[in-house]
Amino acid sequence: MNTIQKIWKGSPNFWIGRKGYKPELIVIHIMDGTLSGTDAWFANPASQVSAHYGIGENGEIHQYVKEEDAAWHAGRVDAPSAKLVKANVNPNLYTIGIEHEGKPEDKWTDEMKQASASLIREICQRWQIPIDRDHIIGHYQIYSKKPDCPSHDKKILNELVALASQQQANPSLVEEGIKKIEEGLALIKQTLK
Ligand SMILES: [Zn+2]
Repeated sequence: MNTIQKIWKGSPNFWIGRKGYKPELIVIHIMDGTLSGTDAWFANPASQVSAHYGIGENGEIHQYVKEEDAAWHAGRVDAPSAKLVKANVNPNLYTIGIEHEGKPEDKWTDEMKQASASLIREICQRWQIPIDRDHIIGHYQIYSKKPDCPSHDKKILNELVALASQQQANPSLVEEGIKKIEEGLALIKQTLK
């Protein structure tokens, strides 16, 4: 099975390694802004933040930090509601963070949902993480002071889990999804010419 295409952007904001932990949960975020704005923010050492991935509304995937390393996307814990949050361990050490373009009130594009689901499925396979709502969580479930990350519409998380499980059950859907994203990108490139 193909791995999905990612564009490496990099960020100086991360820890090398995970202090003995490995990725166990995937944390879904909203950028509250654009993909290019996030590229710049994560590239800036002064921001002190990053995530492993950022996904654009057109389905483009940017990578900032290697999965083996700890990105700085969910370091604060406040009244966590996710049941697999560990006591007294920085969540950055055992999570992978995925940012999404847009604002909490936005409706997600199909391209962004498909790309996110493909990436979730790939990560889950790589790290033996079950694809369910206990392991794919919203940022708000770790940090209650960010109730709108990733979205006003909490059903989006169920939708991502459902899409990713469908893809796992039927790998041809992944190929189709990749094809759709590539077609979309080709169209965008053509329009920009
Ligand atoms: Zn967040």
